[in-house]
Amino acid sequence: MLICSNCFNDVELQIAVSNESSAWGICEACGQESYVVDANIFVDFFKELLLLFQPDKEGMGIVNLLQKDWNIFVDGEVGKNIIDYFLSLDNYGYTLKDKVGYIDSIKSIVSVWNTIKKEVREEKRFFANLSFFDGNDMIEANTMIPKDTVLYRARIIPLERTYLTKNDMGCPPRGKATAGRANPLGIPYLYLCKNEETTYYEVRALYLDKLAIGEFKTIKDLNILDFTSTLSLYYAYSNSTISLSEVIAKQKVLQLISKDLSKPLRRYDSELEYVPTQLICEYCKINGIDGICFNSSLHKGGVNVVLFDSSAAKCVKVQSREIRDVLISR
Ligand SMILES: [Zn+2]
Repeated sequence: MLICSNCFNDVELQIAVSNESSAWGICEACGQESYVVDANIFVDFFKELLLLFQPDKEGMGIVNLLQKDWNIFVDGEVGKNIIDYFLSLDNYGYTLKDKVGYIDSIKSIVSVWNTIKKEVREEKRFFANLSFFDGNDMIEANTMIPKDTVLYRARIIPLERTYLTKNDMGCPPRGKATAGRANPLGIPYLYLCKNEETTYYEVRALYLDKLAIGEFKTIKDLNILDFTSTLSLYYAYSNSTISLSEVIAKQKVLQLISKDLSKPLRRYDSELEYVPTQLICEYCKINGIDGICFNSSLHKGGVNVVLFDSSAAKCVKVQSREIRDVLISR
């Protein structure tokens, strides 16, 4: 089967196809005219990948699952064409039409996060068993925010004030900080956003609210665990010292934690809801990580940055804004 780089969203697969292809022709998976290669150059990768799934009544089609978790193919149709070809080469115990899930060894690792969550909410909190994270480099910095990076934070200007100053823009003092997804009650972390617009949503500004927007600069290079980073499975397969199944299990756990971090805070939430993600942040902190990035639940595409040391970024400028337009959609 001839495939081309347009078949993939996974950048590393695109590069691998481009490097290998010299023949011009019609791609048999997506139908486009392009440089094409024989799909068999990826036979080992897809074999190792497809062996990580098994029939599962609660699951979904193999292509949907691969797309949802790993965004490998340009779309589902192309994914079906390519996976159908690789499934036909071996017996995997399932077909394109069957519902599948991950194999038990991956499922059991992924379930550890749910076990930890239940334990710290309902059984024991301060001596939670995190030995699982100790052994396998699961929680480690994966990016760096360089010194002098600009990040933003907003506050709604109270009615009795006309503007706020740089000193007003930091986090609440120790002991006064309310609990959030990242920080426990009383221990302030600095919540920032990568772009200004996200801050309007994060403070839940309303029509005609006046906002103070603080521009913060990081005072040093910061080691960050970025939950928004996506992983190329093909890159991990080609470069990692651990097996593809370990890579997938690790990344799935990070995806679950990330999802919990990005759940919006609701008025009627119990603070117990936040304990597991607070625990992860504290675990990051004691392991030399300066902060985390995760997707904003309130602004699509927005990214939040939480710094555990509230003095790691300084407010350098404050600007006032008024909310003139609010879009509400379902
Ligand atoms: Zn193609």
